[in-house]
Amino acid sequence: MKNTYFAKTKYFIVDMDGTFYLSGSIIDGSIEFINKVRETGRDFYFFTNNSSNNVEVCRERLAGMGFPVDEKRVIMSTHVATDYLNRNYPGARVYLLGNERLTGDMQKAGINLVDENPDIGLLGFDTTLTYEKIWKAANYIADGAVYIATHPDANCPIKDGFMPDTGSMIEMFAASTGKRPLVLGKPMGATVDYITRFLGCEKDELAFIGDRLATDVAIGMNHNVPSVLVYSGVTTPEMYDKSPFRATLAVKNLKALIEYL
Ligand SMILES: [Mg+2]
Repeated sequence: MKNTYFAKTKYFIVDMDGTFYLSGSIIDGSIEFINKVRETGRDFYFFTNNSSNNVEVCRERLAGMGFPVDEKRVIMSTHVATDYLNRNYPGARVYLLGNERLTGDMQKAGINLVDENPDIGLLGFDTTLTYEKIWKAANYIADGAVYIATHPDANCPIKDGFMPDTGSMIEMFAASTGKRPLVLGKPMGATVDYITRFLGCEKDELAFIGDRLATDVAIGMNHNVPSVLVYSGVTTPEMYDKSPFRATLAVKNLKALIEYL
């Protein structure tokens, strides 16, 4: 029976924080899991919604924990956003709310970032948000700029608590402008589309793994892709029991998933 869940799976799309590592250390058994994925002829990619980081930061963090990976191994909501903009709005003028990492990634992807008269207001996890930026963005959004957000997470867990994330900023702009963005990242279809094109596979050849119900599990449920909930991060079994989000499989951690491969 053990192979039925992932009979079609070629690529595991693995969340990082709370799934592969926690509080700066790789969770026990995560590397064994990756080894087993490879032994069974499959592959893995990391995916993170956190658009306040960039690929380099993620790679440095992984390398610092003893798990160096090459650049293409880390996929972010930022990739989904730049791909979405370049395909649907090539050359558009974009007002970005993002820190220097996100700004750099947007520039590298050829996005036309402007300070005035944008066609698009793009909301990322801006850890350098100021009142002036909020004021400007709210006016652009209210005036009819296409409004897009990189991901929906309300909070970003950190070692001793949390940081308000992009989803909280979405609520602030909704209160001010009455408008809500097109959201990218997990659990949205744009992310499934991007990953399948990036890997050249069908969506049922993917399986998402993560610790968060509304993103890591919902992306599988919303798009008919297998998903695995791990209890190594923000979600407890009690929370899952009460949740409308259903995973294909819920396990303690990546190590506990090995027997199903
Ligand atoms: Mg996570």
